[in-house]
Amino acid sequence: MAESLPPDVSATLNALLTGTDPVSGALRAQIAHTRVAGRCGCGCATVDLEVNRAAVPPAPEHGNPAVDAWYAVPENAGAMIFTQDGYLSLLEIYSASSDPIAAWPTPCFVER
Ligand SMILES: [Zn+2]
Repeated sequence: MAESLPPDVSATLNALLTGTDPVSGALRAQIAHTRVAGRCGCGCATVDLEVNRAAVPPAPEHGNPAVDAWYAVPENAGAMIFTQDGYLSLLEIYSASSDPIAAWPTPCFVER
């Protein structure tokens, strides 16, 4: 697949998928075979993802969102990864403030 992910999107995915469990490992392996398929209409940084399914296997069964984490900065924002059939399908940013977050923050996540 020629088109690769924007650096801020792939950095965010990598930071969210650092786990050593099989689901994180399988989803992390998909990043190199993923492209942006669409963007959110509200102006936020959320992206629809599309994996080249011929290139990598799906992740083992897991819940959705597969990952949900809070940013260190900004404090009131977080990111979630959703999957479809075991493949990355959506990287969503959310915020407690009413203004959409238009750019991916530094991918530093904290426990809340
Ligand atoms: Zn949005």
